[in-house]
Amino acid sequence: MAEISVPESSPFGLDNLPYGVYSAGAAAPRVCVRAGDAVIDLAELLGDDVFAAPSLNPFMAAGPRRWAWARGRIGELIAAGEVPEEAVWDVAAVTMRLPFEVADYVDFYASEHHASNLGRLLRPGAEPLMPNWKHLPAGYHGRAGTVVVSGTGITRPCGQRRGAGEPAPSFGPSARLDIEAELGFVVGVPSPLGAPVPTGAFAEHVFGAVLVNDWSARDIQAWEYAPLGPHLGKSFATSVSPWVVPLAALEAARVPLPGQDPPPLPYLRETSDWGLDIDLVVEWNGEVVSRPPYASMYWSPAQMLAHLTANGASLRTGDLFASGTISGPSRGERGAFIELTWGGAEPVTVKGSARTFLEDGDEVVISATAPGSGGGRIGFGEVRGTIRPAAGWPMAGARGRKMASE
Ligand code: MN
Repeated sequence: MAEISVPESSPFGLDNLPYGVYSAGAAAPRVCVRAGDAVIDLAELLGDDVFAAPSLNPFMAAGPRRWAWARGRIGELIAAGEVPEEAVWDVAAVTMRLPFEVADYVDFYASEHHASNLGRLLRPGAEPLMPNWKHLPAGYHGRAGTVVVSGTGITRPCGQRRGAGEPAPSFGPSARLDIEAELGFVVGVPSPLGAPVPTGAFAEHVFGAVLVNDWSARDIQAWEYAPLGPHLGKSFATSVSPWVVPLAALEAARVPLPGQDPPPLPYLRETSDWGLDIDLVVEWNGEVVSRPPYASMYWSPAQMLAHLTANGASLRTGDLFASGTISGPSRGERGAFIELTWGGAEPVTVKGSARTFLEDGDEVVISATAPGSGGGRIGFGEVRGTIRPAAGWPMAGARGRKMASE
């Protein structure tokens, strides 16, 4: 048996126990749990084949009773020193994979500070919030197939954009590539078509939370978004952290929402608090540029889920819905560079140079911690991405493809 040592200061203590999917060497990916710097193979630990899978989906589909049993048993076995040697890997010795197979992906817009800032930037002179914003959690359907795990390189997207004062659009690499620091919620238990999921059933369906970076090409977005919303400016890539923090680990982080005025319609009212006291940190090339507070979000994830299904839309195991950019009231709490630099007009200093949007080779790391039930803090780990130069793009005419570098 292996002794798992978890220092008291570790963000991966027994009150966290996030799930992931790892691979070591040429072996097939399998489900694991993290304790300290140990990655523990769960099929080996629990002798349950639901974990001998390349994604968390079979376990997530099994539902809250099975989740609670597994979490309790994992904690007991680690505390008792009853973890088989062959189940344990050092986190530095394994590759972390996309932890779940993404079914549908929806992105909300739940921060009042972010929505107000974007409104001022995109529609100067108009009311910052749209008339519906305080009545429903606004969202759009993203592209599930381009959700990638932390560490995956992000190729600068090409697309149509029209600069200020330009008479016609042109096609080429985005010059205003941005981040959006968000939290994502992962559905485990599906729901049938035609049956809305009330706010009170949130924990019966949602398995856990991940960090999300919703990469956004602002020039492509600004030209395409009216009237049907975000499309190619966002669908090129969305990064998620490899560790799924179970809802059960977030009990100590639950807080009331900051307040909703006007009161939401009855189907959006919460029966218990699902505001979350989670602190994010955004690092740009190793320098901290922002600390977005999740506790400042206007809409809760339980309200997002209730709204998502209010028309009878069904849920599938692996559905991912993200919060939208997390921005607090002050400048140092803004979760996107378009807000942080006010549309590029107010650069920030990163490693001594004035910066606005992302350049090739830039690296962004988003991390987060929350209060744990053990009195310390639990961690989400990180979602990391590095910008790669634009690839070739198809050109009209007989000459076929032309490379961006030409
Ligand atoms: Mn977003």
